[in-house]
Amino acid sequence: MPVKMVTPGATIGILGGGQLGRMIALAAAQLGYRCHVFANESDSPAEQVCGAATIAEFYDREALERFAATVDVATFEFENIPAEAVHWVSALRPVLPQPEILEIAQDRLREKDFLQSIDVDTTAYRKISDQASLVRAMRDFGYPAVLKTARMGYDGKGQITITPRTKAEEAWRGMGGEIGILESFVDFACEISVIVARNGNGAWAAYPAVENKHVAHILDTTIAPARIGAETAMRAEAIARHVAEQLDLVGLLAVEMFVTEGGKLLVNEIAPRPHNSGHWTIDACVTSQFEQLVRAVCGLPLGSVEHHSDAMMKNLLGSDVARWRDALDDPLAKLHLYGKTEIQPGRKMGHVTHLIRHR
Ligand code: AMP
Repeated sequence: MPVKMVTPGATIGILGGGQLGRMIALAAAQLGYRCHVFANESDSPAEQVCGAATIAEFYDREALERFAATVDVATFEFENIPAEAVHWVSALRPVLPQPEILEIAQDRLREKDFLQSIDVDTTAYRKISDQASLVRAMRDFGYPAVLKTARMGYDGKGQITITPRTKAEEAWRGMGGEIGILESFVDFACEISVIVARNGNGAWAAYPAVENKHVAHILDTTIAPARIGAETAMRAEAIARHVAEQLDLVGLLAVEMFVTEGGKLLVNEIAPRPHNSGHWTIDACVTSQFEQLVRAVCGLPLGSVEHHSDAMMKNLLGSDVARWRDALDDPLAKLHLYGKTEIQPGRKMGHVTHLIRHR
């Protein structure tokens, strides 16, 4: 998809005020761009580092149109932004990655149907539209299985593990009676992700596959690169590239995968935005995932994804942030705090990247 070049000095609009928006804005500033964030809360992590901010609800069409009028190109940092909001902005200014890609990623069912349609392996899954379909799927899939809401789920929100003791009625109610999917449980050897960037000329670059450890469904640690064989890593990269090309992506896409004991790769989720498992790239790669996104959406050449260090990224979740000072005892640790004042259990407050230098 041809993209008009947006030159330094121009303004990038960021929909969403979280830490991903903050780190996009920091990378954009380094390249001489201004950023205008649209967030539904004041003093958000992104607002703290952006020159301009609009604070309004995502269904406030007028506010979105006023915001759009001030930016040259827009991107989003949060998957659950209402699709209408993104469409209202895209009627006035380019939004990249393309809103259609966001819509696929927002709905687990559409996402999995899309992946299957382009011959990418996923976990076995079934649409659940009522209690009766859940009962049937539970019988067919066996135990354990994972029930997920189709929409608005992230970091394990809207997810229930189905065991032989689970009552279908309770599980269906627990999900709020919303359309969902039942997935078979994957007893994976490890979880990995690949972040791929693609620009308007179809040039692409993928960061090495990294290994992700989740605690209570939330990313806790990323080990970069993943401790997997070269052949598996190449297959993972090829899958990410294939998905990006089939979407005609302009921007960044994270592809999360399960590696089975037998070495199979099953895509669990895609996210058309910077990803927590790519934070290590800020300190260990020639070009960070955030700079790469800015380059792609502004129609610039992509930067090198080469890494000069291996890394271990640890999230500071909830009250972990109180231990931020300990991180600085390691001179090769890079501390990133997101400026959030309210601590909640599991909330992403910051991260630390421990660099392991190549000799
Ligand atoms: P998700 O919200 O789909 O990214 O899921 C969050 C985390 O829950 C994943 O990264 C896995 O650790 C775990 N998980 C999700 N789905 C499955 C599954 N079908 N089998 C095993 N673990 C899963």
